[in-house]
Amino acid sequence: MILDLDPNLSDREVEALSERLKRMKFTPVRQAGNRIALVQGVGKQVRKEAFLHLLGVKKVSNLEQKYKLASRLFHPEPTVIECRGRKLGGGHFFAIAGPCSIESKEQIDASAKAAREGGAIALRGGAFKPRTSPYEFQGMGEEGLKLLRDAGAAEGLLTVSEVMEPAQVELAARYVDILQVGARNMQNFSLLKELGKVKNPILLKRGFSATYQDLLMAAEYILAHGNPNVILCERGIRTFETYTRNTLDLNAVCALRELTHLPIVVDPSHGTGLRSFVGPMSLAAIAAGTDGLIIEIHPQPDRSLSDAQQTISFEAFAKIIRDARLIRLALDSKSVEL
Ligand code: PEP
Ligand code: MN
Repeated sequence: MILDLDPNLSDREVEALSERLKRMKFTPVRQAGNRIALVQGVGKQVRKEAFLHLLGVKKVSNLEQKYKLASRLFHPEPTVIECRGRKLGGGHFFAIAGPCSIESKEQIDASAKAAREGGAIALRGGAFKPRTSPYEFQGMGEEGLKLLRDAGAAEGLLTVSEVMEPAQVELAARYVDILQVGARNMQNFSLLKELGKVKNPILLKRGFSATYQDLLMAAEYILAHGNPNVILCERGIRTFETYTRNTLDLNAVCALRELTHLPIVVDPSHGTGLRSFVGPMSLAAIAAGTDGLIIEIHPQPDRSLSDAQQTISFEAFAKIIRDARLIRLALDSKSVEL
């Protein structure tokens, strides 16, 4: 709901109106041009008429989008997420790298060192793996989370790992900084609600066939349940094309930038499924304006227990980040005239 106020209303009068709205159990967000955006409580229905009689309210309109807290209308400035002294989003570019799955201490330690040396600020690694086949490696579970925590700590990196069900959230939050929701669980609403209760940033991956609105509504669940630290991840969608594992939808970067204030990360590993595509599509994502990248690396990519075909070497990762810097520099350059 958007309340357009009398332009002559003083700051004190707007403040008084905001207090009144808070007593009515709404969350008012003041905006430029004497406007108040209103977020209703979870599960609460409201009618426009309820506001028209309030002092200073000239016009009441429904928001077109169903998502509120995730919308740029409610939060015009980009969100910058702070995690253990690191800033993510809003111009603070960040790279996340690591293996698809945590496989052993040697593997995750070597990946952590290479991730840091290559320029990543966070180490990824799956301990609970959502595999399409029940016969494939399912992850190391809690033991894997401990290895990830130790490897990240040794290199001064944040850590990222996926949770698949509500019961894993509290356990994973004890070991990991950023909790990932996988594409297959983007609309696992009981999981999203549980993630609203923790303070850890959430890396929310777009479902294979989810629209931007579906993704933003999933983010809204986490935000509405109390956790403001959501990072959105474009990881490719299903299309008629079969040459690549998925089609990396870079429109998402531009569209989400317009629609939401939340940081956006691109995953060219799952988005393409092909090792040789990861570099070029990382750079394309940077050019499109992504806030971050998440890339699968492994000491011996061909021996990865999951997602080997899309996993790249340590050297290839370091080169991507070097090239990414050049692209960012070129884009920031004020002296280039086209
Ligand atoms: C992963 O990050 O390893 C993963 C399983 O990703 P997605 O959920 O995007 O398939
Ligand atoms: Mn993977």
